[in-house]
Amino acid sequence: KPKQIAIYGKGGIGKSTTTSNISAALAESGLKVMQFGCDPKADSTNTLRGGEYIPSVLDLLAEKRRVNAHDAVFKGFAGIYCVEAGGPAPGVGCAGRGIITAVELLKQQRVFEDLDLDVVIYDVLGDVVCGGFAVPVREGIAEHVFTVSSADFMAIYAANNLFRGIEKFSNSGGALLGGIIANSINTDFQREIIEDFAHRTSTPIVQYVPRSLTVTQAELSGKTTIEAAPDSEQADVYRALARTIAGHEVSKAPTPLSQTELREWSARWAEHIVRLERSERARPRAV
Ligand code: ADP
Ligand code: SF4
Ligand code: MG
Repeated sequence: KPKQIAIYGKGGIGKSTTTSNISAALAESGLKVMQFGCDPKADSTNTLRGGEYIPSVLDLLAEKRRVNAHDAVFKGFAGIYCVEAGGPAPGVGCAGRGIITAVELLKQQRVFEDLDLDVVIYDVLGDVVCGGFAVPVREGIAEHVFTVSSADFMAIYAANNLFRGIEKFSNSGGALLGGIIANSINTDFQREIIEDFAHRTSTPIVQYVPRSLTVTQAELSGKTTIEAAPDSEQADVYRALARTIAGHEVSKAPTPLSQTELREWSARWAEHIVRLERSERARPRAV
């Protein structure tokens, strides 16, 4: 049975970039990997396929009733199997239900068994504010959940919402939390903020990933960093992350903050920043 991992996080935070690099690093090390995009944008696997979009499971289902699930599986970099769940037409249907439909179709037709996979990574949009996107956690489709978050408040807010969803379903067979992937962390200050949040929510940080131009360049050429810049420091960061995730065994229920606690937490950081700025100004400067 393959290891099933879900990567969650706020839109634009770097889920697909990080997930694709994890997939690429795992495939490079010889594992059989499937990346399953669960975002109605259906662009999760683009950098594994030279920047190209693939038809999604829901696209195929919209064309005809009986779909061969294998037709939704496309090979990408290093033999990675790429699938996009896709989404309903804007304004109709539930995107979360769409994910279930897509996963069920592949399960029914035994695609996961046929391909003899080692790892399946789901790249899931959303911060679990709605029932639909909680589905992979709630139904235990994934065993381990990781969240991508920067030190920005909205990203942390989304991570905290995800934690609340995980905590809620943790006693009824829901997925548990593996940890935080701290993305775009370039200063000590950003590191302190995310570390403090991780500490408060009893969650490990599995990897710090800096914001890097190497990633931008790779994306612009339609590739992962692992493919476009295999000798870069950034590629090694993604390899370390991939190793940690591949070796990860025990996930736990987090201890999310309540709305009030989160507000107090952010207010304390705001005060801290004011104090820091004051002491910066007070410091004598050479001319
Ligand atoms: P999501 O899947 O969470 O919506 P993406 O992975 O598409 O987010 O990332 C959004 C943008 O941020 C992309 O242009 C991506 O290249 C960029 N990005 C993500 N992580 C990094 C990083 N560590 N360094 C530089 N750019 C990054
Ligand atoms: Fe959309 Fe979520 Fe409601 Fe589904 S549950 S329709 S994904 S808001
Ligand atoms: Mg994405």
